[in-house]
Amino acid sequence: MKVIDPGHEYLLDSLDGELVQRLTFVKREGEKYPGNVGSHPGTTTQEVLRALIQRSEYVNGQIPCPETTLAIGLLQSALYLLESRAARCHGRILVADIGALASGASKCSDCGHVGCNGSCRKESSSASLLEACKLAAYEFDLTAKAPEPFNPVGFAKYSGLAKQMEEAVKRGR
Ligand SMILES: [Zn+2]
Repeated sequence: MKVIDPGHEYLLDSLDGELVQRLTFVKREGEKYPGNVGSHPGTTTQEVLRALIQRSEYVNGQIPCPETTLAIGLLQSALYLLESRAARCHGRILVADIGALASGASKCSDCGHVGCNGSCRKESSSASLLEACKLAAYEFDLTAKAPEPFNPVGFAKYSGLAKQMEEAVKRGR
């Protein structure tokens, strides 16, 4: 992976031949995007996560294994957290199951986020939105219920599994 424009453009290596894979994230200018110079269309981290989740589900269907299953849960958790942040910064509470988040089928056509019913168009200035996002971060309810993939029990299971696998390797199995 080579960084072309930090945060926005990357060249990804390919296997089995030469194939240029340019990953371009949307770039915008303004108060919400400090340091950005220039703008261009592009995708989002959430869309890339959706592709990674789908691919992982595919390969896990070919040869199922516990590591891939748990990795899918972590990718889903990352997607949930990013969409949860977006909802919070837009004054919403994210209400969507992981299926809806992973498919992205119900994304808002304006802001690209799941759970937005078009209210993003009625928002005031980007400066007040930025301020609301910063303030809300301190009021975040850490006891809020998250979807199953975000459940820390998954991490506990993984640490137990990792230990068992390590012991099996040591035993030469
Ligand atoms: Zn929207």
